[in-house]
Amino acid sequence: MLSIKNLHAGIDEKKILKGINLEIKPGEVHAIMGPNGSGKSTLASVLAGREDYEVTDGTVEFAGKDLLELSPEERAGEGLFLAFQYPVEIPGLSTTNFIKTAVNEVRKYRGEEALDAVAFLKLMKEKMAQTNIDQTLLSRSLNEGFSGGEKKRNEVFQMAMLQPKLAILDETDSGLDIDAIRIVANGVNKLRSKDNAVLLVTHYQRLLDYIVPDFVHVLYNGRIVKSGTKELALELEERGYDFIKSENVEA
Ligand code: ADP
Ligand code: MG
Ligand code: MG
Repeated sequence: MLSIKNLHAGIDEKKILKGINLEIKPGEVHAIMGPNGSGKSTLASVLAGREDYEVTDGTVEFAGKDLLELSPEERAGEGLFLAFQYPVEIPGLSTTNFIKTAVNEVRKYRGEEALDAVAFLKLMKEKMAQTNIDQTLLSRSLNEGFSGGEKKRNEVFQMAMLQPKLAILDETDSGLDIDAIRIVANGVNKLRSKDNAVLLVTHYQRLLDYIVPDFVHVLYNGRIVKSGTKELALELEERGYDFIKSENVEA
């Protein structure tokens, strides 16, 4: 589904990703962990198509296409979902209308008809129940005045509505309280199927108590320096990142 080969990327003159290799198959959940400043968010941003980052080498194939050639909108159309770390607030745009537009844009890209009001409402109801999101939240302006937990809920709801092939969730270094962890875990676990995959960028071993990943990778200094199963996350929890750092001292 996703095949990253020798990916190098940076910003301005700064090299951040220095040869990432990663293969994700349908049905798999991969967790990327690693110390602060390793390049985790950069990787998520490059995959989402954020233009601030420049790819200098390597390839990324997604669902048989050259991902790096696609615009962010085309990526979404192909079934890629990126949760925003810091969701934007858009006063005056209702959350429901935002999601409706997103869903119908993806359908249009795939050559499918837009959902009519009845079909959209039905899908909304189903996904609202599934993700435990409150109606009042969806009628408010997009993310305006949303608490951290409400933003998470909204993000997970968007993911459920879009049913992406691959969801990339970048959980930042701060602010994931136990409530938010449960919201994210619940959303990911409900999306999980043999056809979908998830790339979960996280600092928190704790999140992995709720989402059991098939693979765990450690990103350090722009490279994946270790890969394993969920046991690796437990080892990291116990030992911290120091052993990773000392194993990877640059000459
Ligand atoms: P992580 O998510 O693993 O904490 P990031 O991808 O956010 O790491 O950052 C990796 C490195 O790239 C850091 O040294 C960071 O300061 C730098 N970096 C990331 N984004 C930018 C940016 N927009 N401008 C300058 N440097 C950046
Ligand atoms: Mg960071
Ligand atoms: Mg980060």
